[in-house]
Amino acid sequence: MAIEIVNPYEVAVSQFDEAADRLGLSQAMRAILRKPKRELIVNFPVRMDNGDVEMYTGYRVQHNINRGPAKGGIRFSPEVSLDEVRALAMWMTWKCAVVNIPFGGAKGGVLCDPHKLSRAELERLSRRYATEISIFIGPNSDIPAPDMNTNPQIMAWMMDTFSMHQGYSVPAVITGKPLAIGGSEGRLEATARGVQYVTRDAMIDLGMNPEECRVVIQGFGNVGSVSARLLHELGCKIVGLSDIQGGVYNAQGIDVHQALHYSKEHGALTGLPSSEHVTNSELLTLPCDVLLPAALENQLTRRNAAQVKARLIIEAANGPTTPEADVILNDRGVTIVPDILANAGGVTVSYFEWVQDLQRFFWAEHEINNRLESIMTRAYKAVREKSVQQETNLRMGAYLLAVARVAEATEIRGVYP
Ligand code: NAD
Repeated sequence: MAIEIVNPYEVAVSQFDEAADRLGLSQAMRAILRKPKRELIVNFPVRMDNGDVEMYTGYRVQHNINRGPAKGGIRFSPEVSLDEVRALAMWMTWKCAVVNIPFGGAKGGVLCDPHKLSRAELERLSRRYATEISIFIGPNSDIPAPDMNTNPQIMAWMMDTFSMHQGYSVPAVITGKPLAIGGSEGRLEATARGVQYVTRDAMIDLGMNPEECRVVIQGFGNVGSVSARLLHELGCKIVGLSDIQGGVYNAQGIDVHQALHYSKEHGALTGLPSSEHVTNSELLTLPCDVLLPAALENQLTRRNAAQVKARLIIEAANGPTTPEADVILNDRGVTIVPDILANAGGVTVSYFEWVQDLQRFFWAEHEINNRLESIMTRAYKAVREKSVQQETNLRMGAYLLAVARVAEATEIRGVYP
């Protein structure tokens, strides 16, 4: 049997190729959109607390900027690679186009294990990486945000570093900042709120009653933990949760507030009272109605796709499903709300944060959430209509919509010079 494609960039390109075929894109347009526009690799020293100096490698990739400045998160992880960052940058281009906000796609990452760094080391690494990529980033060119293992404090250090070099505050250079320095109300919860809106809309389409739905969530960080709380508020029963150390399961339902407290106190979910331990791979095939991968790429593969029990998968993480698993799940009639739609709430409120920072005029939380809801609902409806009209699934519906928008912008602008 052929080896399964799990290189995220190859996955991203294969998804694009399928959309390009269906759209009948010209050879020139395919060639332009298949490749990232700019790729920056930085190797930089960081002084450790014990006086030693260690070298780190980081990346910033801009895939496309024809619809607006590049936008995309920064990830700190021992798994980061140039191909992963390329894939995530390309997915950002499509994501911004699906929700129709005026950004192109970018992503950044540093190869490191942030859990092994002290707070002071993490600050020095963040500031030095921000300095290294400062030739790319700026409020009009490329605006980073948080992603795996990065948070508002790290965004604050990066914004401060960029501002120090300019000599004045530039809040719009980065989003996902704390409120005190130009962050937006609702940003911390935004990705999960978007997940909640699309889950609700998909449930309506599938005739599923939230009150009768059992939900399993992989990943209990920013996206996974807030999604657990918001889906619980929607009326769903959360039966399984996990973090990098393992999962917990209770068929009768997990007390989400208790899980949030427990995880904060113990640094992990393992040992949560009234729950049984499951591994991360067991978690994905637990009996449930809705499955939310909210951790990382390549979790649903040809090895486990046939055993997934959920009827509805909401891709809160980026790239959680391999193309082979996608085919298996589609053949089995499982509905998948794709990442470029499902987790677009984060970049949408990042867009609001950027607009507020540029205007120095801030909105109330209910305004943010109302605008987010209308954008997510409209995008979900457009994707669904496209998929029905083209007799395809939601992922391809989202790609057809997004790639056509980016191709149109690229075509109208023309090839320079
Ligand atoms: P995070 O660092 O806050 O949380 C990640 C969670 O995943 C943690 O609970 C961690 O323990 C868990 N995890 C890590 N490796 C794992 C593994 N091998 N198996 C199981 N669990 C594992 O990150 P986040 O910001 O919540 O991002 C999660 C996903 O959502 C990523 O794919 C990210 O790209 C995507 N995303 C995030 C945002 C955002 O606004 N933060 C927006 C859009 C998409």
